[in-house]
Amino acid sequence: MTDLFDKCTAFNRDIEAMSTGFYPFFRAISRMDGPHVIVDGRELIMVGSNNYLGLTTHPKVRQAAMRALKEYGTSCSGSRFLNGTLELHEQLEASLARFVGKQAALIFSTGFQTSQGVIAPLIGRSDTVIMDRLVHASTVEGTRLGFGKVRRFLHSDVDSLRSYLEVSTDGTGILVVVDGVYSMDGDIAPLPEIIATAKEFGARIMVDDAHGIGVLGKEGRGTQEHFGLNDEIDLVIGTFSKSLASLGGFVAGDARVVSYIKHHSRALIFAAAMPPSSVAAVQAALDVIQTEPDTLERLWRNTRFLTEGMLDLGFDIGPTQTPIVPLIVGDDARAAILWKRLFDEGLYTNCVVAPGVPRGQQRIRMCAMATHSEEDLKRTVEICAQVGKELGLIK
Ligand code: PMP
Repeated sequence: MTDLFDKCTAFNRDIEAMSTGFYPFFRAISRMDGPHVIVDGRELIMVGSNNYLGLTTHPKVRQAAMRALKEYGTSCSGSRFLNGTLELHEQLEASLARFVGKQAALIFSTGFQTSQGVIAPLIGRSDTVIMDRLVHASTVEGTRLGFGKVRRFLHSDVDSLRSYLEVSTDGTGILVVVDGVYSMDGDIAPLPEIIATAKEFGARIMVDDAHGIGVLGKEGRGTQEHFGLNDEIDLVIGTFSKSLASLGGFVAGDARVVSYIKHHSRALIFAAAMPPSSVAAVQAALDVIQTEPDTLERLWRNTRFLTEGMLDLGFDIGPTQTPIVPLIVGDDARAAILWKRLFDEGLYTNCVVAPGVPRGQQRIRMCAMATHSEEDLKRTVEICAQVGKELGLIK
């Protein structure tokens, strides 16, 4: 008989990497203040966060979370379905529905649970999900839990999508799923073409806009606002762990569809509700987005600075159109060495290796934030120039 844990004792890649000092994961931060963090007693510039608008430290967001903590305590201690629904949850759902222009919204305790918890109950045995190859892992997990067929089309390739739609049998309900903004490359889905193609075949469309909400569109309402497509997406998914300064996620769509999900989603019904302080933080972040538009302007100014800085240096930053700025270096070792040298010089970045990205696409992932100062970003570019030259990645 084999011991179930044999695979664990045989696994030693983590120990090997740690012993060389090139282990980039689970680095503990001891202090965090927006774009600056302290790690191992040293201050670093945080360029590896999804806190795009910098609202996690905004005074109004902090105060709202603290007020809710004082008023309600630390947890809802149960599912939304039973004892865990507060009026705060319902108020936030109404605000989110208004923000993305849908009839109704439903919040989940994490973004990951949201895509998973929306797809699984919708896709019955006779249904099909057709999703972009690069959608987030949470969508993939959702399709594994549903009973229907699953197809993956070539990234942002409308002809490839069409080829799967054409062979989907009559009588099949189809859900086409894309991310609004792809988290590793920062490129925007060609939504107008995807929607037009999906509609030709009567398919429904879901957009995971985790990285678009708060970032794209004149008012930060996401990828649909960017393209002026407000009514044409059936289901919009968002997370709170990025621009909305908290933890959790939501789906928005027609009231009957949202109600169906609310009464069938195991990820919602069998999980505890978002804690009150997290809900209040999102509500306050939404208010800030709508009343302080200069935050979004600063994010885009900083995005341009970082993007142009990396392009001028000669880094391969791929097809990004958003605050996500990757430095694509192409193998695990190079990515780990670059991460370590940037870390030593004072930058907190993310090292992304396979299967997070396809082999050959390994990278350092950086993100601009609205709260980076000009000095933070100048220093970031200087460090990347110095380290990139030292490692022979740029001239
Ligand atoms: N969707 C996308 C596109 C994401 O990038 C992420 C998180 N990185 C999620 C969903 C899951 O959200 P969360 O981390 O807030 O649970």
